Amino acid sequence: MIKQHILIIGGGLAGICVAMKCIDAGHKVTLIDKGENRSSAVAAGMINPLVFRRMTKSWRVDEFIPYAEHFYRTLEQRTGERFFHPITIRRCIASDQEAGYWKDRAQNAMFRDYIHPFDEEDAQIRPEQRPFGSARVNHSAYVSAENFMAASKAYIEKNGTYVAATFDFQQFDPTECSYLSQPYDHAVFCEGSASVKNPYFEKLPVEATKGEILTVTAHTLPQHESLNRKCFCLPIAPNTFRIGATYVWHTDNVIPTAEGKELLLENLRLLTDESVEVIEHRVGIRPTTPDRRPIMGAHPTYPKVHIFNGLGAKGYMMAPLLAEELLAHIIDGKPLDREVGLGRFF
Ligand SMILES: Cc1cc2nc3c(=O)[nH]c(=O)nc-3n(C[C@H](O)[C@H](O)[C@H](O)COP(=O)(O)OP(=O)(O)OC[C@H]3O[C@@H](n4cnc5c(N)ncnc54)[C@H](O)[C@@H]3O)c2cc1C
Repeated sequence: MIKQHILIIGGGLAGICVAMKCIDAGHKVTLIDKGENRSSAVAAGMINPLVFRRMTKSWRVDEFIPYAEHFYRTLEQRTGERFFHPITIRRCIASDQEAGYWKDRAQNAMFRDYIHPFDEEDAQIRPEQRPFGSARVNHSAYVSAENFMAASKAYIEKNGTYVAATFDFQQFDPTECSYLSQPYDHAVFCEGSASVKNPYFEKLPVEATKGEILTVTAHTLPQHESLNRKCFCLPIAPNTFRIGATYVWHTDNVIPTAEGKELLLENLRLLTDESVEVIEHRVGIRPTTPDRRPIMGAHPTYPKVHIFNGLGAKGYMMAPLLAEELLAHIIDGKPLDREVGLGRFF
């Protein structure tokens, strides 16, 4: 295989995953990032195979989860850093109807890998507050975003070129795929919600979905599992928990709000009556799409110019395998999953 030089614009989760796959395959990588990460670094990094709202499995979860685990574990081994943490999610069931859904799914072979068999413990977790009991999710995990981002940045610096700068579109020639007069075989734009300012892809509906997230200290919440009901409560250190996250569609500012904080604390009161202390309040912008599918592929006029975006609320689960598929598409011409193609919008 001829080794290629790939230019990656954006060093969030999407850009990192593409860079890793390029390095693995022996290609030369130049990654440019302006140091204004608004999503990957803020995320709780949770990997949840289920969609609780509809009690369905996440899209392509049977492929994404094993691949993601292997990807993060391999990077941990290579960097000596730790950021992939398996953790059980415990859903506190809110109604008879929801309890019925869980019972139904638990008997369905498609869900077998992801729903822990019900036992006494599920009924007995604070039954006075949770009359409908609880249910546990298997194969769930979280990626500690800060550690992952720092470790992968150092790895890319060592095995490729990492440029801390804002990409200047005036200096890019999409026909030649050259930047600052340097030719590249391909360019992959991974700018997250900033892609609305990208002149080649601005027509694609990458939407900004604001999310607020708290870090709190508490003493009554469980350390070994992540409680979930209207919000998640993720233990990240002794007596320290991430509580998230809000969703405000079509909103692109990263200003923390009193309403966002109060909503999260109100939801948390469904999980504990302890008065917790808020030690951090963060805001990020998810790059989402109207059909909840990522956006990947080549520009219709400039075949060397690609996009990888729209990872939405489940980027940490999907990005590793999607990056592999994007690279196989760019280098070997393998077709992409038909649900992610740009053709659905152009
Ligand atoms: C509050 C919150 C909680 C979340 N929780 C989870 C979760 O639990 N699990 C999960 O899987 N996902 C979660 N997500 C979603 C997840 O963060 C996203 O799916 C994913 O990180 C998006 O990655 P990205 O690389 O596409 O975008 P980003 O992380 O936004 O990265 C884009 C990068 O491009 C760079 N860039 C942009 N324009 C330019 C330019 N012109 N020149 C140079 N660089 C540029 C930026 O500096 C940035 O680093 C959460 C998001 C939020 C906001």
